[in-house]
Amino acid sequence: MKKIRGIAGSPGIAIGKAKKISDSFFSYKKVKKIKEENIDAEIKRFNESVNKTENEILEIIDNIRRITDKEYAEIFSFHLSILRDRNLIEKIEKIIKKEKVSAETAIRKFVDILDRELKKEHLKARKKEILDIFERIISNLCPKNNKLKDIKDGIIVANDLSPTQTVSIDKRYIKGFVTSMGTETSHTAIIAKALEIPAVVGIKEGIEEIKENDVILLDGYDGFILINPTKNEIEKIKMKEKEKENLRKKIYILKDKESITSDGKKIKLYANIQLPEEVETALKYGAMGIGLFRTEYLYIKRTDLPTEEEQFLSYKKIIEKFGKKEIIIRTIDVGGDKFISSFQGPKELNNFFGLRGIRFCLEKKDIFLTQIRAILRASYYGNLKIMFPMITTREEVIETKKLIEEAKKELKNKDFKIKEDIEIGIMIETPSAALISDELAKEVNFFSIGSNDLIQYTLAIDRVNEKLSYLYQPCHPSVLRLIKITVENAKKNNIKVGVCGEMASIPEIACLLIGLGIDELSMAPISIPLVKEKIIKNSFAKMREIAEKVFNFNKHDEIIEFIKKNLN
Ligand code: PEP
Ligand code: MG
Repeated sequence: MKKIRGIAGSPGIAIGKAKKISDSFFSYKKVKKIKEENIDAEIKRFNESVNKTENEILEIIDNIRRITDKEYAEIFSFHLSILRDRNLIEKIEKIIKKEKVSAETAIRKFVDILDRELKKEHLKARKKEILDIFERIISNLCPKNNKLKDIKDGIIVANDLSPTQTVSIDKRYIKGFVTSMGTETSHTAIIAKALEIPAVVGIKEGIEEIKENDVILLDGYDGFILINPTKNEIEKIKMKEKEKENLRKKIYILKDKESITSDGKKIKLYANIQLPEEVETALKYGAMGIGLFRTEYLYIKRTDLPTEEEQFLSYKKIIEKFGKKEIIIRTIDVGGDKFISSFQGPKELNNFFGLRGIRFCLEKKDIFLTQIRAILRASYYGNLKIMFPMITTREEVIETKKLIEEAKKELKNKDFKIKEDIEIGIMIETPSAALISDELAKEVNFFSIGSNDLIQYTLAIDRVNEKLSYLYQPCHPSVLRLIKITVENAKKNNIKVGVCGEMASIPEIACLLIGLGIDELSMAPISIPLVKEKIIKNSFAKMREIAEKVFNFNKHDEIIEFIKKNLN
């Protein structure tokens, strides 16, 4: 038996035989020549494969819509646009003809040329999807390579999975997946969570030791795998699974229970969503509001920009399902690891320290104002609040507020109804924002602490680099001190403060945050019942006591241990 640690990509436990998906054909360098008289037949074979791929994509879109009723299907409209681009297809046909090579070789040569283009910053984010399309065409040219389709029982083991592969997973046959790339915030993990497929990602070492058909035990809750586990280990994990299963059953009871500590303090538990359709899941798990709508996904999944009307309808769709509950719409947060194809930004050495969040918006005011107008228009119909990401200075907030006033004026001139006094909030996700939160609190109605980024910037670690995941410490004393400062400044200025980073979804840490004075916790919907259960079992007095004492420790692990020991 061997245990390998990774990152918990998507919760769940799975046991099955390892089904290894080898790296893409792009690493295969052999050139296959063909005879002159076979050129036409080869071009025909290539076109048939393109058509087959197109039909598959259409089928996937159909399936996703049926299974999940989510807009993830739209991610594939980009795949379709590539497959239907005659210009591009003809370029590959030309290579077959001119160089007298097989379709597979021609595609590889074409991808090599394209690779140089894909290094450009604005195309980087699309690279995976573009390669994914060509990989699909190739696998249809030689179907025996298309392993994913053939897997009838097991756990996928791969270097990386593309978004297409993730949504192609048939949950009846494939129990989960393990990858060496990625983190909990990578695209693949986000989709796996939404589709409820257990996954462990970001395994730094040891994945190559897994042999085909080895028994793999995958723990997507705690982020590890066991290779060929002993009977004892399997029993242990089965018990854990049973516990989780019981908990799942409890979800329906918990769902309608009030989120209140044992000594009577009510705690708001909200959901983080990426697309309007996820509101269904948020309601299923008992979310009392939306604490973070990551609106950049409305931009990421397409090649052009969403119009004001389209965005207005998306926001309204959430309101229609969510009624009078509070909904916090965060304006577009691109940059870092999220890019939109409709904008070609300047080349940057380090994207996370570049034109990200509010910086992008203040540079591209037209895009920003369109979104602000859409939010203001939707605000008339429900309990919407607007929130801005990546704030580092007071000036950014002042400038943003001016833009809101400008948008309001414009809309009123056009006779649109809006909520005049819409609440404005900012994310506290940089150390600078936390440290000047006394000044910032005077400018806004609420704070939401984005701990994913606050940890990244405080500890100087790239949040998507799996090699640094050991330093991703939500309870590092520096992070807790910054949270404490932020909460104190919010309270002094009488404004609300929430947390919407991943740390809010860890039940024990959630209790610490409540003890520190956090008013609202927002997380992936699936985490809400677990956090609620912990809250109900413990008193606010205990949480406050823990929050005072954690500052006596100076190590992350000691703090976690202390909290766990002191909670029921
Ligand atoms: C965060 O940084 O904690 C956050 C919630 O925002 P995102 O994960 O979208 O950067
Ligand atoms: Mg963030």
